Amino acid sequence: DLQLRGTKVLVTAGANGIGRAVVEAFAAEGAEVFTCDLDEAGLASLPTGIGHCRADVASRADVAALFDQAIARLGGLDVLVNNAGIAGPTGRVEEINPEDWDRCVEVCLTSQFNCARLAIPHLRKSANPSITNLSSAAGKFGFALRAPYAAAKWGVIGFTKSLAIELGDDGIRVNAILPGLVAGDRQRRVLEAKAQQRGVAFAEMERLAFSFTSIKDYVTPQQLADQILFLASPRGRTISGQAISVDGDTRML
Ligand code: NAD
Repeated sequence: DLQLRGTKVLVTAGANGIGRAVVEAFAAEGAEVFTCDLDEAGLASLPTGIGHCRADVASRADVAALFDQAIARLGGLDVLVNNAGIAGPTGRVEEINPEDWDRCVEVCLTSQFNCARLAIPHLRKSANPSITNLSSAAGKFGFALRAPYAAAKWGVIGFTKSLAIELGDDGIRVNAILPGLVAGDRQRRVLEAKAQQRGVAFAEMERLAFSFTSIKDYVTPQQLADQILFLASPRGRTISGQAISVDGDTRML
């Protein structure tokens, strides 16, 4: 038992992928969960009992409305999981459309500031408050032809470590999780694009990707959720300011 029963949790982008697994795992532990997404059909298909609304986390107006609804429903906040992220544009820096750079940084990084600043006053009133920010293995390596995403995910780690120091006196823990090769459609699309760039078959690209890991398998969204729940639980109480790789020891992207 992770002792998360009744814990008030807000997860961004919970309609699909990792966010959805995190939402479902917290709910399975008896936590009270609220989430948002752009994908309204995905939100509507969540199990009953999970509060949700449409919100673009890059929009401060949407995030303000999200917090109004989440706090009204949950009656407070113990845990914020800043999960929302997009792959961003692929290509050489001089070819990247500046608007695509801005959007990638806004969704992957600025969104975490947008949500944290509204969460902090509520977290200060919690008995075991924490923020977990999704970064990526791209947040510790260079990522060929994905500079906007890597820059945003490195930024997440700087934001996380700074915020952990700032909020330490309030007992609010702040950590980043860095997934690597995650099972699912999103990863498949990334590897397919890379295979195309290199002119190799998908299976060859997959084999190449795993050759740079120790544990040669995908990490599942549920396995990521396990770590995120642990951090939020009382068992995670000594852990703050960390950038935690949950990636089978990925050494290159
Ligand atoms: P996903 O694409 O499967 O799901 C992302 C969800 O975010 C979707 O439901 C989408 O509608 C929503 N979303 C996108 N932009 C949004 C916005 N502006 N506002 C609100 N919701 C928005 O992605 P995922 O694989 O579950 O990734 C979740 C997080 O994990 C992201 O931060 C991602 O960068 C990170 N990550 C993923 C991988 C991977 O391989 N899948 C690897 C490393 C890090």
